[in-house]
Amino acid sequence: MDVFDNVKKQLSQINSIMKLSDKEMRLLLTPKRIIEENLEIEMDSGKAKAFQSYRVQYNDARGPTKGGIRYHPNVTLGEVKSLGFWMAIKCAVVDIPYGGAKGGIAVNPKELSEKELERLSRAFIKAIYREIGPMKDIPAPDVYTNAQIMAWMLDEYEKLTGEHSPGVITGKPLELGGSKGRSFATSQGGAYVLREYAKLHNIIPEKTTVAVQGFGNAGSHIAEILEGWGYKIVAVSDSRGGVYDKNGLNIKSLLEHKEKTGAVKGFAAEISNEQLLELDVDILVPAALENQITKENADRIKAKVILELANGPLTPEADDILAKKKTAVLPDVLANAGGVTVSYFEWVQNLYSYYWEEPEILEKLERIMVKSARDIFDSAKKYKTTMRTGAYILAISRILAAEKLRGNL
Ligand code: NAD
Repeated sequence: MDVFDNVKKQLSQINSIMKLSDKEMRLLLTPKRIIEENLEIEMDSGKAKAFQSYRVQYNDARGPTKGGIRYHPNVTLGEVKSLGFWMAIKCAVVDIPYGGAKGGIAVNPKELSEKELERLSRAFIKAIYREIGPMKDIPAPDVYTNAQIMAWMLDEYEKLTGEHSPGVITGKPLELGGSKGRSFATSQGGAYVLREYAKLHNIIPEKTTVAVQGFGNAGSHIAEILEGWGYKIVAVSDSRGGVYDKNGLNIKSLLEHKEKTGAVKGFAAEISNEQLLELDVDILVPAALENQITKENADRIKAKVILELANGPLTPEADDILAKKKTAVLPDVLANAGGVTVSYFEWVQNLYSYYWEEPEILEKLERIMVKSARDIFDSAKKYKTTMRTGAYILAISRILAAEKLRGNL
């Protein structure tokens, strides 16, 4: 299945409400620039190996394009295009001055040595460095990429261009111009959105159970934050399976266990990923990959609220089924926008060469996330639709307004 079909379906649904012109629809459905390159690197064995890579700069009407780079064996152009589109929507939802982009390499990074990973990351920058830049396109980490990879990429970019340019990439280590708070920004932002929703719907953390799918950056931090706020995290999973305890898991100990053994498995009673998604919990947090809840399992989802920290974890068909069941979906373009918001703060600090302390970052993040959440709740109410559609309507209006002002429509 082509993940971009999801974007097409979402846009045609939005179109039925917004009544967009053919030109507007064409513009929204067409990425501005696609870079595809087969990267050949030398493996430690001395043999050469090739990896397919992509960078999609989807829309830049509102500012330089912005979006992460994913390393995963299943990366396809369709996936990268969709993620680029969602980035454009996301940046417009939180109203930061960026367009949307995404990058990816079809690779299983777990099969590469540290040196091979470095060579691959540098090769990717060599392939795209003319097309990126602090005022052009600004990459960041995504699934299976991290601050170290951003450091190699920054170093390669600066070697090729001959000048220091920390604003070309975000999610960097602090020593190279990273921002305080970036590592947990996505989850912190999602937690603020959930808190706004909880206020309106009388959700009391101490009486509320949560299951989290994925225990990487986004999943582990949200589990920690929500546990700290009094929520009971009863289940967590990663790519090797899940664990469940109806009395609540101790997240700090679980993190230590994962650090030691490489997986959450073995910490408590084991459950499969499918079982985790279908648990009888109040809140479900998908924080792994896309297309996890589909028409096959949507009917069996019992959670009343879904906080989408992952990008695209629900298919459009699942969205429709859940909307009929009145499951509240706090959509990815809002719920995980804290990451790109602190990336934006990182970029601003790089351009200023002046760095903020963590409390300042959190206060600015909270202000943006709370305002964006309220805007989206209001938009959904106004159009009598889901929060996702409410978010898309708001974001698309903002993107099209910028396109009109530029004379592109
Ligand atoms: P990560 O690589 O740190 O973690 C991914 C986690 O998902 C790992 O624990 C992995 O074991 C788990 N996983 C993989 N396949 C799984 C499966 N089939 N079932 C259950 N778990 C599985 O990645 P991340 O940065 O935490 O990103 C997770 C999601 O959040 C992605 O969709 C990403 O696009 C989205 N996101 C992340 C950020 C960020 O700042 N990290 C920002 C916005 C959106």
